[in-house]
Order: sequence, then C-alpha cells, then structure tokens
Amino acid sequence: MIDFDHMIDNHLYKENKPKEIGRYYPSQIGSCLRKVWYSYKLPIDTSPELVKIFELGNIMHDFVVKVLKSEKNPEVELVSTELPFKQEYEDFLVSGRIDNIIVIKASGKSILVEVKSTGNVDYVEDAAPHNVVQLQLYMHVTGIHDGILLYVDKRNLKSKVFPVPYSEQEALNIIGRFKALHKFLKAGVPPDPEAREKRNTIWMCKYCEYRQKCYEEIPMSAKWL
Ligand code: SF4
Repeated sequence: MIDFDHMIDNHLYKENKPKEIGRYYPSQIGSCLRKVWYSYKLPIDTSPELVKIFELGNIMHDFVVKVLKSEKNPEVELVSTELPFKQEYEDFLVSGRIDNIIVIKASGKSILVEVKSTGNVDYVEDAAPHNVVQLQLYMHVTGIHDGILLYVDKRNLKSKVFPVPYSEQEALNIIGRFKALHKFLKAGVPPDPEAREKRNTIWMCKYCEYRQKCYEEIPMSAKWL
C-alpha cells in the first residue's frame, strides 16, 4: 500500500529560508505583525497541516483562472495572473511576485481580483478586513482602483463577490504597518499580539506557528485574549 498522506507532505515540503530584515513581502502585511516579526527572528518550518491549507488556496486560484480564461465567458478578459511588485520605502524594500491577484478586463475596465477560498461561503457576509489589506495596497501601487474580493467555497464552488472601494488613506495605513514592522525588527522588540486584541481577529492565532511562544510571553489578560 502507498501512504498518500506522506507523499503529499513530501511533495509540498519546502524549507523555510531565513528572511532578511529590510525586505518584506506584500502577502505578509494582512497577518498579525507579531507573527511576521517572529518569522524573521525565529524562522520555523510551516506545519504540514498549514501547508496543505495554503495549497488548497493555490488549487482554488488555478481553478478561478481557468474559469476567467474560458472561451465560454467572453465578457471577461484575463489580463494577468501574476503582478511584479517592487516598492522602496525609506530604508526598506517591499517586493515579490503577487500571484494571488488576477487582473481582468470587464466592460472595458481593468479590475484586480483577489481570490479567497472559504470553508462555508454562506457565512461570508462582507469582505474580511485582513483580505482587504492586500487588495488596497495593490490598488494603490498599480493605479488600478477597481478591486473585488472573490470568495469560493471549497466544498461546492459556490461563490460571492464583494467590490472593494479604493481608499488612499487605507493604503497609506498599510504602508505604515510595513514601517512599524521594520522599526520593531531593527529594535529587536516584538510588536503587540494584535490578533489577540479583538474577538474578530483571534481566529488568526489558531493557525499561528508561534502561538505557544506568544502566550508564554504575553499570557491572557483583560487586554489580550
Ligand atoms: S498567537 Fe496570535 S497574536 Fe500571537 S503572534 Fe500568533 S497570530 Fe499574533
């Protein structure tokens, strides 16, 4: 018999290379800043369970690209499935290939599409704030000020679309998060455990590789969930 679970783990395994302070990635900034800080200071391999969840997201993304490319959907033209990103801010760089954003043309207009897979689309009632973060940054940098978040249900491929209005102020706040991260990393001081501040972000901790360390360093209290 073959052990297919083990084969999947082998196939998806990637060594986590140490990251360089001063070089950041657009995909990081919607996450908890403390978690990102740990990933620079204490790099560890992502657990096989989480790697599989990320891979499901990639599979969904590829499926959405096929749907958008399909000749049976002539009202939409797929322009690009990857965007290069490189921005210098003061003494650090934000760069990387953005491969979770698709550019389409519909009714003559360019639109950025961010794809998110979800466990149950019936519970998705609005664009989630941590998803909007990346899209705002891309809209700001590309100058394409029309964006949508597309949620697709992993169980049955049902979907929901939410337009995201561009906000320069929000984009500047996001750039401010990179600046804050850079400052904390240079100082060697971790940021507050921001995901534990509110009920609507605590779910992030469930998927955080640094959960145990974070709770050891800052135990639960009236302030931190
Ligand atoms: S456990 Fe939660 S608050 Fe702490 S680093 Fe991870 S995501 Fe952030």
